[in-house]
Amino acid sequence: MMAGIKGRNTKPELVLRRALHRAGFRYRLHRRDLPGKPDLVLPRFGAVVFVHGCFWHRHRDCRFCTTPKSNAEFWLKKFEGNVARDAAAIESLCKSGWRVAIVWECSLRGVDLDQHLRTLADWLGGRNQLLELPVRAPPSKLSDRNLDSAAPARPC
Ligand SMILES: [Zn+2]
Repeated sequence: MMAGIKGRNTKPELVLRRALHRAGFRYRLHRRDLPGKPDLVLPRFGAVVFVHGCFWHRHRDCRFCTTPKSNAEFWLKKFEGNVARDAAAIESLCKSGWRVAIVWECSLRGVDLDQHLRTLADWLGGRNQLLELPVRAPPSKLSDRNLDSAAPARPC
């Protein structure tokens, strides 16, 4: 069963699955026939959810997104590959009409968990195509407001 598949069912993903299930959401797991093998698929909402480890998938400006000091070249190459694969999967899913949520693992570890889950539930019930959790902090300066913090993180 699933337990035999390495790298799956990591703890933050379980946290999210339990919370969504408790909130009444039903999903399927790791659909291999979809680009990037999304962690959760919610057909009723036309949505897929990726739970991304901040280290492997390079969560920008996140304290868990560290780079090992030795073999830096090897790691950078590996990270580059991961990021490129993620971007390609998201683009491909969007083109097929799927809505895509990226949930970074750090958002499932912190005290803001409930708030993030509410944001995800709202997104599922809405119509926006992309969601990234944690949602980027709003600009601190008024002059930055024209950056539109509500815009999707990636072109789709
Ligand atoms: Zn992170």
